[in-house]
Amino acid sequence: MEGNITKKERDCIIALHDHISLPVRLFNIAEMLNIKAPTAHELVNRLISKGVIEKNNGVISLTEYGNKVYGDIITAHRTMEIIFTKSGVNSDEACSEIGKIDYLMDEKSIEKLLLNIGNPEKCPHGKPVKP
Ligand SMILES: [Zn+2]
Repeated sequence: MEGNITKKERDCIIALHDHISLPVRLFNIAEMLNIKAPTAHELVNRLISKGVIEKNNGVISLTEYGNKVYGDIITAHRTMEIIFTKSGVNSDEACSEIGKIDYLMDEKSIEKLLLNIGNPEKCPHGKPVKP
């Protein structure tokens, strides 16, 4: 993954993306990630300085770059899910295991893995590998 992000930052990016339909404010982030407001504040500031999210009038959203980071995490996640489940790991277990590493994967390696498994379009849950 470009730059380094932490697991909490990863979870924040995913949560932000999945709550795209409503305006997300700092307290929503704290609530979604089950962290205290000052911690959420720090997390948001770190992600702003990395260019991943932006804040306008208190409303927090992913930047264009942040959306790309999200896409890369999801592609890595679903690619690994396919490989794990093909290898006999049950899909719930695969999902939680892969959540520990998906944000660390290099997108070029993921592309090679995808090619190697025949460029599937959907993950085991039927979701697009490339959202
Ligand atoms: Zn999953």
